[in-house]
Amino acid sequence: MSSRAAIRVLPSETVNRIAAGEVVERPASVLKELLENALDAGATSLELEFAAGGIALLRLADDGSGIPREELALALERHATSKIRTLADLERDETLGFRGEALAAIASVSLLELASRVEGADSGWAITGRAGQIEAPRPVARARGTTVTVRELFGDLPARRKFLRSESGEKRRLLEVWQTYALAYPELRFLLREEGRELMQLAPAPDARARAAALLGETTARHMVPLQAAASGYALRGLITLPLVSRGNRSHQFLYLRRRPIEDRQVSHAIAQACAESLPPGRFPACLLFLEAPPGLVDVNVHPAKREVRFKDGRLVHHLVGEAIRAALGERGGLRRLLQTSEDAQLGAPRLGGVASAAGAAPAPAQAALPLAPRAPAPAAASAGGFLRLGELAGRRSGEAEREERRFWQLHDTFILTQIRGGLVIIDQHNAHERVLYDRARAALAGEPAGVQRLLFPHTVELGPAEMAAWQEQTDFFAELGFLIEAFGANTLSVLGIPDGLRRWDGGQVIRDILDEILAESGGVAERRDRALISFCCKSAIKAGEPLREEEMRELVDQLFGTANPYTCPHGRPIVIRISMDELEKRFHRRVPGD
Ligand code: ADP
Ligand code: MG
Repeated sequence: MSSRAAIRVLPSETVNRIAAGEVVERPASVLKELLENALDAGATSLELEFAAGGIALLRLADDGSGIPREELALALERHATSKIRTLADLERDETLGFRGEALAAIASVSLLELASRVEGADSGWAITGRAGQIEAPRPVARARGTTVTVRELFGDLPARRKFLRSESGEKRRLLEVWQTYALAYPELRFLLREEGRELMQLAPAPDARARAAALLGETTARHMVPLQAAASGYALRGLITLPLVSRGNRSHQFLYLRRRPIEDRQVSHAIAQACAESLPPGRFPACLLFLEAPPGLVDVNVHPAKREVRFKDGRLVHHLVGEAIRAALGERGGLRRLLQTSEDAQLGAPRLGGVASAAGAAPAPAQAALPLAPRAPAPAAASAGGFLRLGELAGRRSGEAEREERRFWQLHDTFILTQIRGGLVIIDQHNAHERVLYDRARAALAGEPAGVQRLLFPHTVELGPAEMAAWQEQTDFFAELGFLIEAFGANTLSVLGIPDGLRRWDGGQVIRDILDEILAESGGVAERRDRALISFCCKSAIKAGEPLREEEMRELVDQLFGTANPYTCPHGRPIVIRISMDELEKRFHRRVPGD
């Protein structure tokens, strides 16, 4: 839209048809409106600057068509838009914004400056609006395009301001919105600045995959396969990760209608269903899905901020998405196994710990194969202490003596069996290890120094801007858990050390999983940290199906009985089942009833 139409006030009939509602909830929703305006204006470069999570300052500068001087004030008026004129236009809805109320709404709750210059004008012009009062335009020197500066959002509305999260919380949401748009427009230049410091600069990229590499990481982008489908007027294209790369939540599923970000439950469901065979429960693919539908097949006016839309044939869209994903993953399905086994080598990811990998492949031959520096032996006291408790459990006098004799058996690579006085215990190896790791991590967070395995060769982990921000906020948390991490460029971490006992690296998945929990919407910081901790322990723990050597079982059981609560795992599941000799004898009818 570089040849622009004049701004007009909408007829009230049209106004009423537009779903009313609050557009401005928080800095992220302001950013969404500003980005959409800049895209509608045909911008090729979008520079965002913000301060204090976007609450104190949010400024978007574009090189789009601009707004002529005489229309500047109009742009800040309610229901003034250059984008539609009639109801028929509303039906067509080709541009991203059309309600003609975003700028007015933003100006009513902030100090807003609009500076712009159109092609052919001899200067730029700026106006300021505060709480709806608009000043006369003044000349400013600038190139073609528009800069909208929003300061002190809800500055004189303490009640609204109270609903905002912390600055860092708002910043995260802001970055998520920014990332969502940057992913959809790889051909445009995006710049991101916080308080004058450049956080990220995205040069125009050849395609969505290249942009995804910059924002979601090389590994994710490299494992994405294209997908495509069309039916009855709906068309879909996109990228989805092979099952090898997955996430702990849906935060990396990006859905667009006409390149406008939307959310849709049916589509999320279709994605989950299509991936159900290839991903374990609780794992989600990363994907970019671009839907196209002619105006008659979708209603975009059901949500005030246009986050949700209504498809005329929702089931068809569900089917289209599911089939496209299945076809894309299926074509590569034969490769899947191959990738799963060659991945560690390919990515140079270390196998952690001395036993077999999760895939249940041949047991890792030797610790020497790991690019890990030798690790300090576990403090003897802790181990002996743990053992003594097991000794007590078994009613033995001497721990050491028993340590020699006690035998451990593994059942179906999942349960550990051992004898106690008066019976038998069955231990779930995964739950047990989870408990050990969880207690250790809690102790580390409480100040007990965590054991660190230094990596001989640091690993890099690429993160998106929101994740990077979350990491920066939680550097202490990671350090306390035993990670040695340094920032390495704007979106890369260099991992120099990992917590002692961490067994799975998976290209840095563990770090992303922790960040996913921290970035989650629900709960306070402490709660999200605890969930991150549980998820960290669950992911790093020995899995069901992993063969263990007898010494490893011994060590695990020792450590388990050194924890405060060896009977339930952090998720609340039982760890140990005890079967008494009495019970066994009864079942084998060794005791005659009444005997
Ligand atoms: P809408 O986008 O729904 O029309 P807005 O309140 O967001 O309503 O914007 C009002 C008008 O201001 C737009 O119709 C457009 O003409 C103009 N405008 C806003 N931002 C820009 C921009 N970045 N570049 C050019 N014109 C803009
Ligand atoms: Mg708009």
